[in-house]
Amino acid sequence: MSQTSNEKSTQALYTRLLIGGDLVAGRGPEEPILNPRTAEKIIGLSEASDDQVNQAVAAARRAFPRWSRTTPGERSLLLLRLADRIEQQAETFAGLEALNCGKPFHIVLAEEIPAVVDCLRYFAGAARCLQGSAAGEYMEGHTSMVRRDPVGVIGSIAPWNYPLMMAAWKISPALAAGNTVVIKPSEQTPLTSLLLAEVAAEVLPAGVLNVITGRGESVGTSLVNHPDVDMVSLTGDIATGKKILTSAAKGVKRTHLELGGKAPVIVYDDADLDEVVEGIRTFGYFNAGQDCTAACRIYAGAGIHDRLVEKLADAVSSIRYNQNDDDENEIPPLISERQRDRVASFVARAAEQPHIDVAVGGRKPSGSGFYYEPTLITGALQEDEIVRREVFGPVVSVTRFSDDDDVVAWANQSEYGLSSSVWTRDVSRAMDVSARLQYGCTWVNCHFMLVNEMPHGGMKQSGYGKDMSMYSLEDYTVVRHVMIKHG
Ligand code: NAD
Repeated sequence: MSQTSNEKSTQALYTRLLIGGDLVAGRGPEEPILNPRTAEKIIGLSEASDDQVNQAVAAARRAFPRWSRTTPGERSLLLLRLADRIEQQAETFAGLEALNCGKPFHIVLAEEIPAVVDCLRYFAGAARCLQGSAAGEYMEGHTSMVRRDPVGVIGSIAPWNYPLMMAAWKISPALAAGNTVVIKPSEQTPLTSLLLAEVAAEVLPAGVLNVITGRGESVGTSLVNHPDVDMVSLTGDIATGKKILTSAAKGVKRTHLELGGKAPVIVYDDADLDEVVEGIRTFGYFNAGQDCTAACRIYAGAGIHDRLVEKLADAVSSIRYNQNDDDENEIPPLISERQRDRVASFVARAAEQPHIDVAVGGRKPSGSGFYYEPTLITGALQEDEIVRREVFGPVVSVTRFSDDDDVVAWANQSEYGLSSSVWTRDVSRAMDVSARLQYGCTWVNCHFMLVNEMPHGGMKQSGYGKDMSMYSLEDYTVVRHVMIKHG
């Protein structure tokens, strides 16, 4: 079933926070929540007050002793139930996400909600596979074992680009490992997390998951600084990650940081041109490039560069956005006017460079929403800002290379280290280059393929700690040694 924008605007809204099993109204200042497709206010939402942050953390602390001693099998059943409930309400969740982020409803329903459900189901299973390592007798008459125990109360802070999916990436492994959680979605996109609060209130024991809303500098800071929060998990900007690290240092708290990215896409002369073009068209512009793994920094070999630019320009020009019928849209607008201005200023500065050509796009289309034209920048050089900095918008740059060693060095000359891709028919080269790239993930002849079984996370200033996979589950545990004297 598809929804029109009118139907979406009459979507039921959920506004209550979840604190200690109770669904309550926020008592802090009111924040306007906007629809990025129209720039209209959807609702004014009161954020959590300082007292409510304290209550949420206290509830998570109270729930921890019991939840942490439930068996993995018991936790697994509850996570499966949560997944089922989200799946049953998939259209409501998708409608809210579409409304709050301006995303095409059909894409959220087909891609994002199933990924959320699968994430919960994966960690429901993974919880039962988590093991301490079998140890042995390293001192005569003493047998050791290694336990993996939950960390405690986790303060989770999520971004606005995939609000429910990022919440799922944080909540699922943390709860599966036996932690309790207080999660704060982005102040711009709280709507699906508030529906999740309603569902969780029915499924989970009181205090195991708490959902509070509000701005980063108020509610986020209070959560991070709270002495009863044992670990902070953030997906967000590098600058936010640094602030959180500084605060966390005071309490020597564990942190789990998924920060920005600027994915290099290395296209060798022998690559399948059509596949490359399709890959960049899809994954350079997916979610309007508001994606830390976006295929945005293309390096094209001298032998394929001109053909790639020509075909890519046609392909980018064909991306459908800002259509009256949402079913026709392939990408959403930017999340806010501020974000669109930021993207436009990157493109304006790039366009001032005499060697750069804005081959496609580069303007704000008319209309009231926060759309920006899918943009292709050619002639960019390694030292250009547009090649070095994360734009987080529908903007892809192409840089020509002629030396195989140079291009790997260029790809690695970045403060970011999240994801990368290599396009070639030469298996040996693909293996060699993948090994030399300093990125948490390298895709070969594809991009942005995420599976819950495999780890996702960065190197360098893209952060550390893994989302998805058993590695994520382990990140939310502490390793403990127990030694037993006997014999
Ligand atoms: P942001 O850092 O502005 O906000 C992220 C979250 O942090 C929000 O909930 C915000 O309220 C909160 N926050 C902000 N300042 C805070 C503070 N001082 N203390 C506590 N909380 C604070 O990021 P954003 O603009 O929402 O998201 C975009 C960024 O996220 C991009 O840089 C993108 O690359 C990154 N991102 C990374 C990944 C990944 O997996 N590595 C995934 C998605 C997004």
